[in-house]
Order: sequence, then structure tokens, then C-alpha cells
Amino acid sequence: MLDLLRQSFWQPCLLCEQPQKQLSLICEPCQLDLPWLPSGCTQCALPWRYHPSQSPCRQPGWLINNCRATLAYHFPVPQLIHQFKQQASLTTGRALGLCLTQNTHFTGTAIDALIPVPSSRQTLRSRGFNPAKILADTIGHALGIPVMTNWVIKTGITKAQKYRSRAERLTVSENPFRAKKPCTAKRIAIIDDVITTMTTAIQVAEPLKAQGVQHIEIWAPCRTLPKLTTLVSPSHSPIEMR
Ligand SMILES: [Zn+2]
Ligand SMILES: [Zn+2]
Repeated sequence: MLDLLRQSFWQPCLLCEQPQKQLSLICEPCQLDLPWLPSGCTQCALPWRYHPSQSPCRQPGWLINNCRATLAYHFPVPQLIHQFKQQASLTTGRALGLCLTQNTHFTGTAIDALIPVPSSRQTLRSRGFNPAKILADTIGHALGIPVMTNWVIKTGITKAQKYRSRAERLTVSENPFRAKKPCTAKRIAIIDDVITTMTTAIQVAEPLKAQGVQHIEIWAPCRTLPKLTTLVSPSHSPIEMR
């Protein structure tokens, strides 16, 4: 009877739809099959195999102290992101947030507050939720870190980031984010869904840095990877195709 009762509460795995033996959103075999990222550059979260140099890409004036991502943006991660953002599956969002905290090297030590990348009012109205806020709430709950949504807001922007080319994203100068209330934390982590060029997170970091935040990290459950064939190793010999 107790088993029957427990089974009625079992949630199927988000990926294989098999009933779970434990209260987890993605079953253990499917978790093992996820494209976990190996360790890489602390400044951009690119695995060393994909990184243009073998040392962290810290630059003068760089606002970010650390960048962390745990999954490569490879199957089934794009499908999970689509379910989360386009089909409003908040459960999938929570599963992605938990993937970030399940990295054994990831403790979130000494971070005072999490700041989800804000959505514009227009996006919030059309989607109904801010994906970064769902991720931040999940991560904050798991690691015991408060989530602050009133320190930075997104103002109007002429062209949504997703419609920009990579070159445009890297050269875009206007910053749609500004401080709304004084930020009282010294060490914060900005939460985004996918790290690509880091442009958005860096724009969120700018008004925070101007307010005296000393340590800024970027955390996201996933990161896009460049094609290995386009990279050249430090010795200038082409890196092999995966
Ligand atoms: Zn599964
Ligand atoms: Zn790097």
C-alpha cells in the first residue's frame, strides 16, 4: 500500500519518462548521459580543449572574476532549453538549475547574492516568467543564497540580443541594464540560462561594479562551444575534429 502511494507521487524522468526511484527530475542514467563540461577557463567556462590559449583569458578591465557552466549546449540541452523557455516548462528549468549545483566542484562558496539576468517588461509580459529567475530560485534554494531581483532592471532596447549576429553582440555598445536599488552585496553571481559571448552578463555586471561590488561571477547551467575545426592550437597546428 505504501509502495503504491509512493509510486503515485513518482515523477517520470524528464528525458526518458521512466518512473523515478528517487525524487529527482532527471534519472541517474540520463544524468550520466548529459554532456557535462570538463574543467576549463575560469573566465569564460570554455573547456581547455576549445580554448584559444592554455591560460585564463583575463583582460585589463575585465569585470568578471569567475565564470561557471556545467553542461555543453549539445543534445539534449537545446531541447531542454526550448521546453523551458518556449514551452514554459518550469520543471525543466528547475532540472537545469539543479544540474548547475550538482557539479561536485561547485559549492557557491562566499557568494552573498544571486542576480538573475533581468527580462524586459515586454518579454516578461509575452513569456509570463523570467527564465533566469527560475534558475536563480532553484540554485539559491539548493545552496542557501538569497536571490535579488530589484538591484538591476532592463530598460528598453532597440533590437533583442537573440536577433543580433555574433559580431554585433561583441561590438554592441549600448547597455540596456541599469541599477534600480543600491546593491549591498560585495560578492554576487549573475545567473543566465546559456553562456555564449557573455555580453549580456557583462552588461548586467557593469552597473553592479559601478556600485562597488567587489567580486562578480557568472553562473549558467549551459555553455555553447565553438566548432573545433575553426580553432587553432597554440602551436598553430589545427586541432583534430571531434
Ligand atoms: Zn531518464
Ligand atoms: Zn577563457
